[in-house]
Amino acid sequence: MDFMTQQSYSAPGFVNGEVSFWMRSTGRPTPRPALPGDVSADVAIVGAGLTGLWTAYYLKKARPELEIVIIGREFAGFGASGRNGGWMSAEPAGQFRRYAKSGGVEAARALQREMFGAVRESIEVARAEGFSEDLVHDGLVHAATNAAQLARARAHIAEMRQQGWGEGDVFELSPAELGERVRIEGAQGGYWTPHCARVHPAKYTRGLAATVEGLGVTIYEGTTAISVEPHRVHTDRGVVGAKFVVEALEGYTLSLQGKARKLLPMNSSMVITERLSDAQLDAVGWHGAELVGDVAHSFTYMHRTQDGRIAIGGRGVPYNFRSSFDREGRTADSAVLQLKKRLGELFPALSDVRLEQSWSGVLGVPRDWCASVNFDRSSGVLTAGGYVGHGLSGTNLAARTMRDLILGEDTALARLPWIGRRARNWEIEPVRWIGATALYAVYGYADKREYALDAPRTHWTARMANLVSGR
Ligand SMILES: Cc1cc2nc3c(=O)[nH]c(=O)nc-3n(C[C@H](O)[C@H](O)[C@H](O)COP(=O)(O)OP(=O)(O)OC[C@H]3O[C@@H](n4cnc5c(N)ncnc54)[C@H](O)[C@@H]3O)c2cc1C
Repeated sequence: MDFMTQQSYSAPGFVNGEVSFWMRSTGRPTPRPALPGDVSADVAIVGAGLTGLWTAYYLKKARPELEIVIIGREFAGFGASGRNGGWMSAEPAGQFRRYAKSGGVEAARALQREMFGAVRESIEVARAEGFSEDLVHDGLVHAATNAAQLARARAHIAEMRQQGWGEGDVFELSPAELGERVRIEGAQGGYWTPHCARVHPAKYTRGLAATVEGLGVTIYEGTTAISVEPHRVHTDRGVVGAKFVVEALEGYTLSLQGKARKLLPMNSSMVITERLSDAQLDAVGWHGAELVGDVAHSFTYMHRTQDGRIAIGGRGVPYNFRSSFDREGRTADSAVLQLKKRLGELFPALSDVRLEQSWSGVLGVPRDWCASVNFDRSSGVLTAGGYVGHGLSGTNLAARTMRDLILGEDTALARLPWIGRRARNWEIEPVRWIGATALYAVYGYADKREYALDAPRTHWTARMANLVSGR
């Protein structure tokens, strides 16, 4: 057994769970009323995260006369949208070649172009509507700390060039150039892209929810959807009849009847440090608002907050048997210790820094690891999700796409290759748990071997795991 599973993390004032640091720093929102009974609307949206909120926003902007209701089990932003790493980045979920296979190379390029555009659009709307507090557009750095990671970073740049994206979209950083942005122990280089902004997830989601309400959309909270049928949603508080129903539950999709195996609820865990001193910030050399990640298989993402802390996240315990997870985000001790260790590896000056909070959330992973937007015109049901951890801007693009589909407009968005993708269901238990657990165990092993070998190629075990998992 790993020694870390036998220990627990404790420090004065350390909080484990409570949804997220972002939510705790803004305070729990005042609850909105629950669904009062049976109602009808033009559009019923299930899930008050970014997918649901953005969809309501764009529909209402385009057609102010539409009656739109949103149903949320807890409060708006309770799910991944209020807990994430705050990377508003432009990577579509899944591989380019998969979208190219189903929709053609040009369509796959269009999806990437629209993801670049979704970052800009999300920022512009947040600024125009007044919910851009703490939002800074400073780009994204990926740092490679061994030869295999550097080889993957270079392969990514080469693939982007092949797709037609230039130096203005992504460029390689030498170790010295990387060090000017952030000083990561053992960095051998990396790459930078301007297509990313840092957001405070709770402020952002809460601001969007208030904006949407201001436009005349009704958000019912404390209301659990039980099933979605053609033109109606059954909840624990009544039935919502609607011409169109949008399923926007992502990692929580399994809570709907008949959807238990559609999207795997993958855990992602985060910890955040206390406020760093000037000396500590100087030691890590991270003074800007770029987001920072590594190029490991067990990927680590980091965020330097407005008030000088570092939040670091990754897949501590990626998946629990039978898709269970703690709703309030309590995090396994082993995950907290793993993230603390990783923070110390990347920034030795922070090895003994005090952590203030840990939390976890779930993101939706489809069996083919590609995001999708689906529309069944006869039942009026739309679904969007499967962003695999790239939903901050993906939700915005999915929402504008659903607006066009609902309004029947033949736009470029209505032809993107993620429309109509239907991945098969995940395997039944215990195969699902064994597969997901083994996958991340192999990735962990491959990361260790890549550090040990320091050879410029991906370890064969990770290549095999990618092949078998379809990732
Ligand atoms: C820890 C973590 C870090 C992440 N980091 C990033 C990142 O840095 N960048 C990025 O792009 N993406 C990131 N993601 C992913 C991103 O947050 C999601 O892709 C995105 O927020 C999905 O939004 P959503 O609205 O589809 O789902 P959610 O935000 O999960 O919203 C779904 C909502 O549905 C509600 N609900 C659940 N069940 C029911 C029901 N039965 N009836 C009614 N309502 C229900 C929940 O209350 C929830 O609020 C991260 C995710 C996690 C968990």
